[in-house]
Amino acid sequence: MGKVYLVGAGPGDPELLTVKAARLLARAEIVFHDSLVSAEVLRLIVRDAEVIDVGKRCGRKLLTQEEINSLLVAAATKHEVVIRLKGGDPLIFGRAGEEIEALRDAGVDLEIVPGITAALGAAAAAGISLTDRRAASQVVICTFSRGTEGAAMDWGAITSTTTLALYMPGPDYAEVAHRLRDGGLPGDLPCAIVSNATGPRQQIRRTTIAELVHQEKLPAPALMIVGRVAAQRVQEISKAFWRSDAKAYEAHRPAVS
Ligand code: SAH
Repeated sequence: MGKVYLVGAGPGDPELLTVKAARLLARAEIVFHDSLVSAEVLRLIVRDAEVIDVGKRCGRKLLTQEEINSLLVAAATKHEVVIRLKGGDPLIFGRAGEEIEALRDAGVDLEIVPGITAALGAAAAAGISLTDRRAASQVVICTFSRGTEGAAMDWGAITSTTTLALYMPGPDYAEVAHRLRDGGLPGDLPCAIVSNATGPRQQIRRTTIAELVHQEKLPAPALMIVGRVAAQRVQEISKAFWRSDAKAYEAHRPAVS
């Protein structure tokens, strides 16, 4: 029996890989990767390794999660070093949970190698301090995409000092803005959109929730950083506007059942 390594490929720039990930890619026998993994990172895989794209993006499902789980288990019976390579960090919106359970159930040895998640790559690209002490006390890693139960956004924790790192915002910015306003966030709240963070096609736009609808759509993968920390000058953005606007919203907010 071999071992399966769940490895984070980082957000794009191959220099952001961990030393451990690079070392494992250089001795892999078989690699199963997502479509998010950059071509530059894939080039670091040793030449004679078998490389399989199990990516599912844009609704183009290549393989089901169950099929991927079975492939991993089967590969571990034939190979010493099996790598499951995922964009960013494998444990953030990476469906790693299902794979970890399948491997454990099959008695397959498993190791997780963390990677730099897109929120951190995007924050670095945009020069945003996610926890800037002048304006933030927490970072919430979230998505509106509802692949499974429990993925719905719980607005209970969101305050004027929350930074949202919104994964998979999708191309409908009006819908995103609507959902953010629905959560009680004020229209003036700054928002940065980062597309292809850390890669050669990186693009960054700074806007506000209210102005999101007028923004040109940036190509996927893209992530939004929403909160006072996304302001050009954090010092100048007071939390007062958040409170007053949120209070006005409270008046129309349906009671939480
Ligand atoms: N495991 C990954 C996330 C997978 S979900 C991680 O830890 O980063 C896919 C979402 O991640 C995309 O829809 C996008 O919101 C975000 N993402 C991944 N790579 C990105 C990149 N280079 N730039 C911006 N967003 C990215």
